[in-house]
Amino acid sequence: MSELSHKDWISKAAVIRFRDKAFIDGKFVPARSGRTFASINPATGETLAEVASCGEEDIELAVAAARRSFESGVWSRAKPAHRKEVLLRLAQLLRDNLHELALLESLDMGKLVNDASTVDVPGSAAIFQWYAEAIDKIYDEVAPTGEGDLVLVRREPLGVIGAVVPWNFPLDMATWKCAPALAAGNSIVLKPAEQSPFSALRLAELAMEAGLPAGVLNVVPGLGETAGQALGRHMDVDCLAFTGSTAVGKLFLQYSGQSNMKQVWLETGGKSPNLVFADCNNLDAAADMAAFGIFFNQGEVCSANSRLLVQRSIKDALVEKLVERAASTQPGDPLDPGSKMGAMVDAGHTANVMRFIESGKKTARLVAGGEQVTVNGRGSFVQPTIFDDVAHQDSLARDEIFGPVLSVIAFDDEDEAIRIANDSPYGLAASLWTDSLSRAHRVAGRLHAGTVSVNTVDALSPMTPFGGFKQSGFGRDLSLHALNKYTALKTTWIKY
Ligand code: NAP
Ligand code: MG
Repeated sequence: MSELSHKDWISKAAVIRFRDKAFIDGKFVPARSGRTFASINPATGETLAEVASCGEEDIELAVAAARRSFESGVWSRAKPAHRKEVLLRLAQLLRDNLHELALLESLDMGKLVNDASTVDVPGSAAIFQWYAEAIDKIYDEVAPTGEGDLVLVRREPLGVIGAVVPWNFPLDMATWKCAPALAAGNSIVLKPAEQSPFSALRLAELAMEAGLPAGVLNVVPGLGETAGQALGRHMDVDCLAFTGSTAVGKLFLQYSGQSNMKQVWLETGGKSPNLVFADCNNLDAAADMAAFGIFFNQGEVCSANSRLLVQRSIKDALVEKLVERAASTQPGDPLDPGSKMGAMVDAGHTANVMRFIESGKKTARLVAGGEQVTVNGRGSFVQPTIFDDVAHQDSLARDEIFGPVLSVIAFDDEDEAIRIANDSPYGLAASLWTDSLSRAHRVAGRLHAGTVSVNTVDALSPMTPFGGFKQSGFGRDLSLHALNKYTALKTTWIKY
């Protein structure tokens, strides 16, 4: 729990400063066109700031600054020990500015400030620290060619990385791209989602304060169709790292094919199954974590455990416990540390989620929630919602809702559970609950998912790769494996 009270957060929010310009070549600058877009607090409906809306000409400037910094070698050829020091300082600066960054996240996209200050911001600092520490501990290779030849196989930074990220964990998603890309020596142009530009802008400023040279990390707030597309189609961007929806991820593959064949790495949607077997020995823990797995961050989590597959003999008992969990997870003021769930990101997304819920009321059995609500008469909030008896062909069980909506599906045996779990276009994460070690390994091995959590949900750490199978994307964020996306192998063959 954050050490600040509701009153403390409100008074900090009253004086917070929003960086509302683009950050290009080490300076805050307005969009060339003078255009702006409104960044709105979804918990109150208030406009927080009018933010620079970058277009093609701004992307041009940002990519040119990134390219100049890369070719100059100030960062790309800096000693690993130096890059390590700078990124360690950045990790510390993120911690020093914890309250400000947590507030920016909460005000910008509606999440609980308590979660932002205990999960999002510390998570970002930990990841910068982890990659910083890795920088001077990675060795390259010598190929086994034998006498007369010395063949070095080295990893080099790629050059200019474009990063396009979503609004659900704005600082963390920016970090997952920037930390390994910077550690490897690249320069970056980062486009945050239009719903949540502030923490990325502050991150870039703090990175400069930590000693990152100008032009190495540029941030271009703007709309996906303009700023995002311009980055995706740019002829001088070497690699585009994307997190967001599957539909937009597919666009980036096209942009690449129609421009310079830049590498594209996609982390996209999910409809992650959580399988609870009758031999699970702690149904209360399974219920707690199943609720957490779908209600945390208002269900706006790519790896949310949105399909609960339960063995029929224990289904009613588990659903009863989940209904109790839902009742005690009602939305509240995101700045109140006692609140259990925050606001949805915006009115449009809330309407989408409500459309799924309304149509679900006709095809499945609503057992909890199901209504849109306000808090103190304002904002966009959705109750934690549970549907029982969902047919696994139903839209409730197939489409990514990206809200606090759980679909419960019964199964009779292990084979059926695996079949239902894998019958999805997605394959990001999966969870399973069992007391049998053999079943745990057997089922984990057969699930199509980048991460399988056993007797917990949605487990992740800086040390473990995160990413999807199938239309959940490819390439992995986090862990040393993420460095592969931001480096190329160079062979140097020396004859002697
Ligand atoms: P989104 O609409 O796909 O947007 C993601 C990013 O792409 C935003 O910066 C967006 O900019 C930009 N964009 C949108 N349209 C574009 C276009 N035509 N060309 C270029 N860029 C474009 O996704 P979202 O609604 O922000 O986030 C929710 C989605 O992200 C969900 O599907 C979720 O599963 C996924 N997600 C995946 C992961 C993962 O690691 N796999 C993690 C978190 C979220 P604007 O917002 O400014 O339009
Ligand atoms: Mg969007």
